[in-house]
This record gives sequence, structure tokens and C-alpha cells, in this order.
Amino acid sequence: MRTTSSTDDVRARALFGHRALALAARAAVVVIAFYLTLPLVWSEGNPFRYDAAVSATIAGALIVAACGALALLASRNRALGAQLTRLEERLEELGDRNWELKEAAERNRGILEALGDVIVRRDHDGRIIYANDAFCRLAERPFDALVGTALSLRIVTQGPITLLADGTRIHDQEMEGARWIAWRDVEIRDLSGRSEVLSVGRDVTDRTQAEQALGQARDQAEAANRAKGRFLAMVSHEIRTPLNGILGMADLLLDTPLQPEQTTYAKAVRTSGETLLSLIEEILDLSKIEAGKLDLEAKPFALGALVEETVELLSPRAQAKGLDIGSYIDERLGQRVIGDAARLRQVLLNLAGNAIKFTEAGGVSVVVEPGSASNEIRFLVRDTGIGIAPDAQARIFDEFEQADGGATRRFGGTGLGLAISRRIVERMGGCIALDSMPGHGSTFGFTVTLPPAAGDGGVPLMAPNLSGQAILIVARSASEAALVARRLEQWGATTSLVSEPAAASALLAARRWDAILADRAFGAELAREAASVPRRIVL
Ligand code: ADP
Repeated sequence: MRTTSSTDDVRARALFGHRALALAARAAVVVIAFYLTLPLVWSEGNPFRYDAAVSATIAGALIVAACGALALLASRNRALGAQLTRLEERLEELGDRNWELKEAAERNRGILEALGDVIVRRDHDGRIIYANDAFCRLAERPFDALVGTALSLRIVTQGPITLLADGTRIHDQEMEGARWIAWRDVEIRDLSGRSEVLSVGRDVTDRTQAEQALGQARDQAEAANRAKGRFLAMVSHEIRTPLNGILGMADLLLDTPLQPEQTTYAKAVRTSGETLLSLIEEILDLSKIEAGKLDLEAKPFALGALVEETVELLSPRAQAKGLDIGSYIDERLGQRVIGDAARLRQVLLNLAGNAIKFTEAGGVSVVVEPGSASNEIRFLVRDTGIGIAPDAQARIFDEFEQADGGATRRFGGTGLGLAISRRIVERMGGCIALDSMPGHGSTFGFTVTLPPAAGDGGVPLMAPNLSGQAILIVARSASEAALVARRLEQWGATTSLVSEPAAASALLAARRWDAILADRAFGAELAREAASVPRRIVL
């Protein structure tokens, strides 16, 4: 605007210059003509004397003055002309720019419309300042009928509103005609600093319908799963009754005089029945857990006794395979704790049972010690068995998963024990983990929270003080010896553990020992060599 008025200004000034120039030129011609004719007028009967020199001087001066004025006006006119050209160029440039801006605005509008988003801007009183075509279509009104009104769309369902840290409100609304719009309301400031709300809505009808369909499908699947679980539980329960009958009859049959061949068959019936029973019990357990019916008891029990009983229960199986089995219970733990003893025994039996099943040589140890949190107790079940490949370590805690699930697998089982153990441990507020390397054994560890029973004094035993005592342990069974070493170290001793008599002889000669604990299998020779050791204990 300002440029246009200044162009007009320049144009007017240039016009004025032209006119002034023409006027000055005309005036100069008249004056010169006058002065050139004046002497002639004066000469005829004129009483005054004509002086040609004076007339010429005056005429010359007038011509010079006229020329100077003309030159001045011409140069001013030129300058104004140049200014006019520059302003016209600038005007053209601004015209182009204006056109580009209009085109960009149009393009942006086109993009926004193509996106299909509904856009509406309202002032602080909720009156519409701007609405795009999509909003007009949704409101079924033309733009002019919307501007200045506080019109709100008709909402069928209002979803929950989430407020983001930057003040943006996010919410879904169902409009008439089952259309769902996901809104983002952002507060912005206008040029005078007053607040406005810019609402951008996206049609999410398809997404919402897909979510609803998915939700329905999930509910149906869950219902089917629950029905399957109930069916499984019922069938397993029904199978258990006749199976117990078969087992009982097999036992009775084995008590009668039988031919050796018949004994073999009857034993096979009993073994198969027992395997089937344990499988059914696991399935029943799992369906109970899945149905959320795993109720835990909270009763006082003797923790150390429970662990030792479990180890004792498994020792015939370990001995049958030539394996050692032992337990270590940290003295810092209270004697009686509150929890579900039967479920804890089930987890320990499963982990230690697996440890025996997957170990061919060496041994199994169960360690119980305080955890890092208050009332937390950590259980570790170690074995020297086949170990578990890294890729199988996470999945074996899922149902029906086995590290070696191929048709050629060597070990029996259902793949349910660890899944059940994990669920029980988690219900007890703990977690279960695994540390293993193929060929180097496995350590399954879990923690559970077991508060001490009322009246339990905590540390029960007077622990001997063995600080500074060097003790040599000579034993074939590495796992049992490790548990003994752990206990001695707990009491302050330093221990060395060897499994070969030659290594023991070398160590005996190398330094002074306060005590030696040796496996009776190593015999008299070692006893002679250890004669100088103050305390000699044969295990
Ligand atoms: P199951 O023993 O009946 O197969 P589990 O759930 O108890 O089922 O164990 C799942 C799988 O985890 C086992 O099949 C085995 O492959 C692996 N596994 C469990 N414990 C051990 C272990 N101590 N050493 C090696 N592999 C193990």
C-alpha cells in the first residue's frame, strides 16, 4: 500500500516537473522575444535613447537564467523518472511475491484438505474463527454460517481425555453416524496475545472398528480358552480316579506270587501309571493356575527341615545314577518362616528333580541364603549336567517347552514343570532365573518373600569362629565338598578343595594347614602324609 502511494506521489511529482518545464520554456521564449523586439519599439519616435548593449546584456542574462532553470528542472525530472522506474520494478516484485504467497497458502490448504483432517479454531469464548471444509462437512453448514458461532458437534460417545505435558488434550469422540474422530486440542495465542484453541481431528472410524473387532475376538478366544481349561481340568480329574485304581491294583498284584516275566509286566504297568499320574497332576496344576485359582497358604513352617526333606526324598534317584546330592542352609536365616510349604516343596522338587534328570555325572546341590531385600530368601539349585543352550534358556519357562524338543530327544517329560514353578514363584512375589552353559551344568535360582514366623529369634546357632584357619578338603564329590567349603568359609576359614590324592599331597607339603577333611575313600596313605596337620577329619 505504501509503495503504491509513493509511486503515485513520484508520478505526480514527475507530471508537475513536466508542466513546470514547459511553462518555464514558454516564459523564457516570451521574455527573450520581448527583449529582442523592445529596441525596435523604442526606436520609433521614442524619446528614450536606445542602448543596444544594455538590451543585449539583459537578454543574455535572461537566456542564461532560463537555461539554468531548464537544466535544473530537466535533471530533477530525470531523477524522478529513475525513482519511478525503481518503484515500478519493486511493485512488480511485490506483486509476484504476493502471488507466490497466495499460491503457497492455497497449496497448504489443498494439502490439509487432502489429509482429510477436520480443523477448527475457536477464540477464548469458544466462537469459531476458522473451520476447514472437512469441519464444514461434518457440521453440515457452510463456512459463513459457522464463523462467529459457538457451534459444537453432536457427540454420541466421549472417550477418556488425556492431558499431555505441553497442555495438548487428546481424546476420541463418536459422532452421529458411528464416525469416530480422534481430536488433538492445542492452545495457541493470537496476534494480540489472547488464547485460541486449535482442534485437529482425524477420522479413526476404521481403526476403532478394527480395535472393537479385535477386542471381541480376544474375548471370544479367552472364553474358549477358559472353556478348554475347564474341560482339561475336568477330564484330568476324571482320569485320576481310575488311574489311582490301576496303580493300587498294580501294587497289589506285585505283592502276590508272580512269575518273573509277570513281575516285569506288572512293574511296567505301575511305572507307566505313575508317569501318567504325574502328567495329569501337572496339567491339573496348570489349569488351576491359569484359572487364577492358585491360592497360597500363609502358615509357619521349618524352612531348613523342608529343604532337607526334599533333598532326602530325591537322594534315592540321585544315588541310582551315582550322583551326589546335598543342601546348604545359611545360618543367618530364621528357623521358621511363614509361607506355603507345599508349593515351595513343589518348586524345589521340580528344580532338583530336573537337575538329577539332566545330570549324568557329578552332583546336585541346593543352597538357601538370604536375598537382597528384607524377608527375601534366595534358593539356588546347581547341577553338573548337560546345561542349556542360550537360545533355549528363555523359552523353557513357557508351557510345553523343552530345550531339546526334537523327536530324537533323550529325556522324557512334558515341559510343564518349569512353567508351573515360574507361576508359583511369581505368585509368591519372587522371580526365577537361570544361569547355564551347555556341557557345564546349570544353576536355577529363585527368590521368594517369606517373613519370619512370630517368636522366631532369627540366627539360631552359635557359629564357630574359624577366622585365619586354613582347611584342606579332599573329596571326590565336588558338589558336596563345595557345600562344606561354603559353610567353613561362612565361619571365617580359608579353604582349598581338591579331588585327587596327588594334588592333596602336593598341597600338604606346600604349606601349613590347620585342618584336613578327607573322603574316607582316599585311605591310609593320605592319613600318613597329613600326620602333622593338627585336626584330621575323615568323612
Ligand atoms: P520337563 O522336564 O518335564 O521336560 P520342565 O518344564 O521341567 O519340563 O523343563 C523344561 C525343559 O528345560 C526340559 O525339557 C529340559 O530341556 C530343560 N531343563 C530343565 N532343567 C534342566 C537342567 N537342570 N539341565 C538341563 N536342562 C534342563
